[in-house]
Amino acid sequence: MFDDQFVRSLPFDRSGRAGTRQVSGVAGSLVAPTPVAAPQLLAWIEDVAQLLGIASPPSREWIEALGGNRLLDGMVPYAACYGGHQFGNWAGQLGDGRAITLGEIKTPSGHRQELQLKGAGPTPYSRNADGRAVLRSSLRELVCSEAMHHLGVATTRALSLVGTGDAVLRDMFYNGNARHEPGAICARVAPSFIRFGNFEIHAARGDIALLQQLTDYTVREFFGGTATKPLAPADYLQFFYQVCLRTAAMVIDWMRVGFVHGVMNTDNMSILGLTIDYGPYGWLEPYDPRWTPNTTDADGRRYAFGAQPRIAQWNLAQLARALRPLINDDAALATGLDMYWREYTAGYRRMMLAKLGLDAGNRDEDDGLIAELLEIFALTEIDYTLFFRHLANVPSAPSADAKAAYAARVAPLRDAFYTAADVDGCAAIALTAWLDAYCTRAHASNADAERAAAMNRVNPLYVPRNYLAQQAIDALERNDASVLQQLLAVTRTPYTEQSNAAAFAAKRPDWARQKAGCSMLSCSS
Ligand code: AMP
Ligand code: MG
Repeated sequence: MFDDQFVRSLPFDRSGRAGTRQVSGVAGSLVAPTPVAAPQLLAWIEDVAQLLGIASPPSREWIEALGGNRLLDGMVPYAACYGGHQFGNWAGQLGDGRAITLGEIKTPSGHRQELQLKGAGPTPYSRNADGRAVLRSSLRELVCSEAMHHLGVATTRALSLVGTGDAVLRDMFYNGNARHEPGAICARVAPSFIRFGNFEIHAARGDIALLQQLTDYTVREFFGGTATKPLAPADYLQFFYQVCLRTAAMVIDWMRVGFVHGVMNTDNMSILGLTIDYGPYGWLEPYDPRWTPNTTDADGRRYAFGAQPRIAQWNLAQLARALRPLINDDAALATGLDMYWREYTAGYRRMMLAKLGLDAGNRDEDDGLIAELLEIFALTEIDYTLFFRHLANVPSAPSADAKAAYAARVAPLRDAFYTAADVDGCAAIALTAWLDAYCTRAHASNADAERAAAMNRVNPLYVPRNYLAQQAIDALERNDASVLQQLLAVTRTPYTEQSNAAAFAAKRPDWARQKAGCSMLSCSS
């Protein structure tokens, strides 16, 4: 069932030496998970199991393997070596400090998927940390990666959540308030977990031979490169362009669903354009481009919602720099970065028009309509998810009575406002004008029912808001998995209204505004 092609294709540190250290000249280190006290299955994603050809419910052997207590036949576990730019600065070697790939699985449909444990114990790349993950962060990774998949956003996936039975010491906000928390391991799944940082580390060390080996492997395995012909600079350039395009598509989807990654360091950027490494991520509730859930980034807001498109481009520039020795053409690499931006801006416009249920029109008018809406969002707190979802129900028919028209149009939107009075107060003038323009366009293009159906395919009703994930965590810490199960269930069909699920579509309640885990998270999340 298992393969180890990545390990077989590239040089690896096979010393088995424990202890953190610099490891050069290799793509990673062979290292086994460290066993835990009492692996216990807390969540199981059946369709991912099916994708991998694993029977559900999992056997005791599988649960032990997913807790790191047993290796199944054919598993060759390893931690990858990578570097990265953290918050804009080169950080040198990082690597899988707590993630361990168990092996590659040849799926029944003929694809290959890597199975990786996050929180499986120390590796040579653990620096001064413990290699473990706490229940809250592992649950958040599982819930969000699955939700993203069902929202249609490119992402790594999750197979299981296994409680370890061991306590993990964490200082959640790095402020001297460490406490013991339950540990858990999330098993995640992707064709590959290779990051921009895997290329950067070899380039930074001047190991061009290994850089080329890794790039050849990546191109051949994942970007349709031929196996026999040696790759040329033009092939590497095409590869870079493909990464630019995939990254643009991913970020457009993040902006569509209101996802904030929180830590877009280059070691958290997948070469396949997948959303990867769910840490202090968050979901935009009141629309605010400067919002970030990551308290570690509260001052600079480098990775805030609205900064993500430019940061992705900055990260691509670091990848370009790493690939430069293989391509030797700065102008062509710059073209890739420009291509990313063009693709992003055109795609963003298309995406926002789709959220509005409108066909593309005059470009300046389209941009104006979008920009004016975002200005209204700045006037008062308006829930990003609910606003677009409810906009589908706004009647577009013209009316001679301006007051009555506003009342009818704004009625479906009221619930998206965090301060109800602002609908008829500070937002009223701008919103009246905007709804007039919007309804005129909408009325001219489509029947309301058609527009609503199209909008409901791109504007989700259910996203795993931070406070919902926190409620699932609080319950599971009390041994109650029901909230987690409900959250997983509603986010499986995020575009379809479900009965008895109103609680999962509610805007953030007041109590969650300043609660840890709901609006504030840190890198230790
Ligand atoms: P992140 O910001 O979560 O992507 O982590 C940056 C680096 O720190 C990665 O190389 C991680 O593997 C490593 N890291 C984070 N948390 C831990 C931990 N608890 N133990 C070991 N390494 C960690
Ligand atoms: Mg990371």
